[in-house]
Amino acid sequence: MEDAFEALYGARPEGVWAAPGRVNLIGEYTDFNDGFVMPLALPHTAVAAVSRRTDGALRLHSADVPGGVVHLDTAALEPLSDTNWAAYPAGVVWALREAGHPVTGADIHLASTVPTGAGLSSSAALEVVTATALNDLYELGLTASELAVLAQHAENDFVGVPCGIMDQMASACCAEGNALYLDTRDLSQRQVPFDLAARQLRLLVVDTRVKHALGDGAYAERRAGCEAGARALGVGALRDIPYAELPAALERLAGEPENVRRYVRHVVSDDHRVEQVIALLDAGDVRAVGPVLVEGHASLRDDLRVSCPELDLVVGAATAAGALGARMTGGGFGGSAIVLVEETEAEAVSKAVTEAFAEAGHTTPRIFPAVPSRGAHRLV
Ligand code: ADP
Ligand code: MG
Repeated sequence: MEDAFEALYGARPEGVWAAPGRVNLIGEYTDFNDGFVMPLALPHTAVAAVSRRTDGALRLHSADVPGGVVHLDTAALEPLSDTNWAAYPAGVVWALREAGHPVTGADIHLASTVPTGAGLSSSAALEVVTATALNDLYELGLTASELAVLAQHAENDFVGVPCGIMDQMASACCAEGNALYLDTRDLSQRQVPFDLAARQLRLLVVDTRVKHALGDGAYAERRAGCEAGARALGVGALRDIPYAELPAALERLAGEPENVRRYVRHVVSDDHRVEQVIALLDAGDVRAVGPVLVEGHASLRDDLRVSCPELDLVVGAATAAGALGARMTGGGFGGSAIVLVEETEAEAVSKAVTEAFAEAGHTTPRIFPAVPSRGAHRLV
């Protein structure tokens, strides 16, 4: 990293930082309903070599995209002006400056092992590594969680992607060997031990390597539907409906469009599944998480309707081959699924999924273990 930085900018970087991608164990489409999520960081990271500048210039380079250094001016950064990859790190600089932090420029060289567009939050990794580096170099004193909020602000308002807070919080705040239980309303969080290896278990990520175009509009539609449901129920957000009151809430929604009722059922039940998974992990009953993942998938498939044939095939083939549980993770319509499996079965289950994909004529999926890893940190 340092050599590549020097070749680009003519000097050694002041430091090197890393921030991971993530998978979400449970709690999907809940983060814009003030609900609960439970992501874990992947060993895959975006790495940034960074130096400060005092002349206002912002120079950005990624080893992973063609094209040279992108030259920007920190004082002239305009939201929504750039759909290029550089908008992610530039957005972070913009968000920091908007919040009054004296960031006077930077030279940044990035390289990432987080697969892009696979629902594993390569974008959040890019933002959070940038925010973490600038926070350290400019001695801004912001906490990991404050950096995550700024990174989300960058993605929402500078890049123009209406994502929730989960991805950035996961990349900034996860701890090795743990899943992160996050309340997306007040951002309170707890590290929940998730030691798969100690229990001879593995969590596989299956990247389907498809991304259906449907996804973008569908996200906004689900979001609007959830907000309509909350309004009709007279609550600030669907998070305010306790699981025990779900049947009554659905009855009260009898006059609402059918899809709104389905969305409400998904969100309220998935918040409940997060609570269930936490109770199981706290009790050390990791294997029992499997069936909860399968229920979560069914809810995403049938009620929220954000799955797709490839994701359903992962879950079907994996569970048929003996996995403890599986579900799509992230926004759906392609991207990745997770599979909880006995260590001894991991190979057979991977093979079964790969064969099922071949038989269905789908692209060969990429399968790798999700080892719960640490959040953003300084490397050098
Ligand atoms: P996800 O976050 O699920 O991977 P997104 O569509 O949110 O998918 O973000 C992917 C985008 O992030 C890419 O299209 C690219 O603009 C940017 N990105 C991610 N990783 C890199 C990288 N290593 N170099 C440059 N841009 C990247
Ligand atoms: Mg993203």
